[in-house]
Amino acid sequence: MITISVDMNACENYGQCCFEAEDLFRLDDDGKLVFTPQAPDDRLADIEAAADACPMQAISLMES
Ligand code: SF4
Repeated sequence: MITISVDMNACENYGQCCFEAEDLFRLDDDGKLVFTPQAPDDRLADIEAAADACPMQAISLMES
């Protein structure tokens, strides 16, 4: 599994991550990021793309 974490103090809710993995990252009705904290290993490329797309470098991931 991959554990996803987002530094919500750094996140500015820009939403770029949502374009890379829209089933794992989305903006809620108030425009705030909500994300799925765990994802299967085959989503690694999508999560890395989301992390790379984040202008605040707020997304980190850990494989276990
Ligand atoms: S791209 Fe980064 S700053 Fe934007 S919503 Fe996602 S985590 Fe937050």
